[in-house]
Amino acid sequence: MKCVICKDGNTEKGFTSVTLERNGMLFVVKQVPAHICTNCGEAYIDEKITSAILEMAQRAFFGGVQLEICSYKAA
Ligand SMILES: [Zn+2]
Repeated sequence: MKCVICKDGNTEKGFTSVTLERNGMLFVVKQVPAHICTNCGEAYIDEKITSAILEMAQRAFFGGVQLEICSYKAA
């Protein structure tokens, strides 16, 4: 896949971290499978994975945590 940010690099399978913030609460997911641009480092995450992360964050925010760091696990 061609990178749309730098329009020069190609993406490679790899892992990235995602940080979500809401009302001062921080939710960090590590080891998220993504396609990473070999040129600029931009990470592309599949829609399915993105929605799974948002769901995880929703649960954490609902539980009222201030900071949660976890690793992504494929369902
Ligand atoms: Zn790029």
